[in-house]
Amino acid sequence: MTILDKIAENAQNHPRRTAYYYEKPAGGGYKGDGEPPCLKARSVSWGDLNEQSGRLAYYLDKSLGTNTPVVVYGHKDPLMLVCFLACVKSGRAYCPIDVSVPPKRVDAVIREVQPEVILATEELSLSYQQILFAEDIRKIIETAAGEAARERAVAARDVFYIIFTSGSTGVPKGVQITRDCLDHFIEWGLTLGNLPETEEGRVFLNQAPFSFDLSVMDLYLSLYSGGTIWALDREIQGNMRELAASLKRSQAAVWVSTPSFAELCLSDPSFGEALLPDLRAFLFCGETLANRTAQRLLEAFPRADVVNTYGPTESTVAVTGVTVTRELAKEENPLPVGKARKGTWIFIMDEKGNVLPEGESGEIVIAGDTVSAGYWQDPARTGASFGTMEIEGNTCRFYRTGDRGYRKGEQLFYCGRMDLQIKLHGYRIELEDIEQNIMKLPGIRRAAVLPVCRGGQVRSLSAFVAVEETPEDAFAESQRLREALKRFLPDYMIPKKFIFLESLPLTGNGKVDRRALGGNML
Ligand code: AMP
Repeated sequence: MTILDKIAENAQNHPRRTAYYYEKPAGGGYKGDGEPPCLKARSVSWGDLNEQSGRLAYYLDKSLGTNTPVVVYGHKDPLMLVCFLACVKSGRAYCPIDVSVPPKRVDAVIREVQPEVILATEELSLSYQQILFAEDIRKIIETAAGEAARERAVAARDVFYIIFTSGSTGVPKGVQITRDCLDHFIEWGLTLGNLPETEEGRVFLNQAPFSFDLSVMDLYLSLYSGGTIWALDREIQGNMRELAASLKRSQAAVWVSTPSFAELCLSDPSFGEALLPDLRAFLFCGETLANRTAQRLLEAFPRADVVNTYGPTESTVAVTGVTVTRELAKEENPLPVGKARKGTWIFIMDEKGNVLPEGESGEIVIAGDTVSAGYWQDPARTGASFGTMEIEGNTCRFYRTGDRGYRKGEQLFYCGRMDLQIKLHGYRIELEDIEQNIMKLPGIRRAAVLPVCRGGQVRSLSAFVAVEETPEDAFAESQRLREALKRFLPDYMIPKKFIFLESLPLTGNGKVDRRALGGNML
């Protein structure tokens, strides 16, 4: 059954069950260790989610002239989910943008997508005529004359969502995921972690913002299986005491996050089975799951499965998975990222595209029925990374990941990147994206951003900048650059340290010599 049919069925079977629950900090947010602000609960039941999204879809269908994707801006208000479903029910892809994305970058995405309408569930200070804000959206839902007909919804080959990821040119690239891809991912995703069936529906924890594809894992596994999504606000995630309290209230059964977030939680001694007695599965994706982290989780949650999954946004969240048992954690360090799901083929290739035998390391190439339709309106970048190949008599799409890895039996092992993409606290970043944005600032001639690594993990970023005039006060200048960058880049992409130089060292072919700057990346 397709995701939209399943949502309609779930809404009919248990209309009053909570589909989505979110605690919004009210009253100015957290200030250091001061008094926490009061929390305002915002939720939507299955019945309301289905009806409200149907009514908003009816409006979109009747009022918009084209099928261009709709940008949905906000954080974790339940209205976000209503908007996502309304878009696809009206036959349009949605493009989620989180509030953590600064205005200039929101603007860049909007210029790429050219949406006919923007649905903003939070304040957005951009001057577009076509923005509908929360109160407009609520009024539309109240007054719509009906719900969109089922046949208006996106078809199997239509794009369901577009998620923008960091792009090396400084302009983010929009990964288009079709409904088919999503349906195929969900079918496999529900088999991860061996979860027992429940009468009341399971609670899925949502950590990632909706502009990251990791959130697709919790949103759609919960929506397909009739569960409840417990969404963690970004401010709550930044306050250990409130985070632990929220986790306790959640009664979550399925945990979906980056390993970094679980490591943060493990630093709190109360993080264990007593806090989350119903927890049965940790589903990880997006960055290396350290063997030690898996072992600590297995100790703290003896009844939960720890599952490592791997995949890029370009192949719908994840395509390999493995349950990390105590035995596996003892045998393998680093841990494998798992075996390919049914419908996915993993090839390890050399630079010429030759398939390498087991044990040899090369580029991980993913082929199969969850590979994206390509980057939004970007044939050059699509052509460079995507293609088709014949597998068992069928034409399959493939994606060159830029990841390095090798196979051992059925298991895939990940061993880093072939380019300048990194993961910092679970966020995917192209270092050149930051460099391009630094070079937009006045007085900067050239920039090179390098990751600062400890224990095999990226801990922070340092920017080496060639400046027209060496600043007298390097600290003050760094602060100024960081402030200026906030207009272009989300906080997690802003380098912690700036090093000012007259010029950057170059390699023989004129590229910045990152090794000479102390980096171990190409
Ligand atoms: P994203 O598109 O944000 O999901 O990032 C995808 C990239 O994250 C992949 O191409 C890998 O470089 C990295 N990644 C994803 N899953 C894992 C994993 N389980 N272990 C190590 N790296 C991972």
